[in-house]
Amino acid sequence: MSFKRFEKERDFETLRKLMVDEQIVRRGVKDKRVIRAMLKVPRHLFVPEEFIEEAYNDYPLPIGEGQTISQPYMVAIMTEALELTEKDRVLEIGTGSGYQTAILAEIAREVFTIEYEPKLAYKAFIRLKAMKYDNFHLKVGNGSLGWKEFAPFEKILVTAAAPEIPPPYKEQLADGGVIVIPVGHRFAQVLIKARKDGEVFEKEEILDCAFVPLRGKYGFSLNYP
Ligand code: SAH
Repeated sequence: MSFKRFEKERDFETLRKLMVDEQIVRRGVKDKRVIRAMLKVPRHLFVPEEFIEEAYNDYPLPIGEGQTISQPYMVAIMTEALELTEKDRVLEIGTGSGYQTAILAEIAREVFTIEYEPKLAYKAFIRLKAMKYDNFHLKVGNGSLGWKEFAPFEKILVTAAAPEIPPPYKEQLADGGVIVIPVGHRFAQVLIKARKDGEVFEKEEILDCAFVPLRGKYGFSLNYP
């Protein structure tokens, strides 16, 4: 690594600390596991080259194929809401850049992640492997149906919006487990946290949000199964 490159990496580390302090801790995120993971994962390696200087800014960024990497605060609040621990096996829908996957992999026992866009999935897979994550499984496909072979999951995190909680997720969530998902209209939703208690789902609204739509029968398009 050249000296210049080393200097640059130190700059990114400084920006990352600022991001965690100003956008995440100051806004009330307390979970130590989430804070530690966000201090560690190099977010600038998950954005397209042309946006690298903006990687630690307080907004989502385009990642290609009409999709986005979520705003850092959104990643933090969603992961905190999951109440994730090192014992959990977690299902993630919408791998995208793989940034949220890395945060989950830092904390959870195992991560199962599904991405619909093959190009994004491929890039995310290469990145995560290069960073030596070995506790994740990535599948290209329609995640609106979940991942039955590996169910039940203690936690489910959905990073694309659906009109309501898709029934396959309800089935594949372990009893006592938590799902975090944006629910509502196509471009205006509420982030919901729901805990499964037998047949009952105790729901809690976290905050308003605007995610890209989940594709598939239980999302916003009938063109996919
Ligand atoms: N967590 C990602 C967010 C990506 S945006 C990140 O921070 O980078 C949401 C992603 O969900 C997009 O990449 C989109 O292609 C994907 N997606 C939408 N519908 C899907 C489906 N039915 N199955 C799997 N992935 C889906």
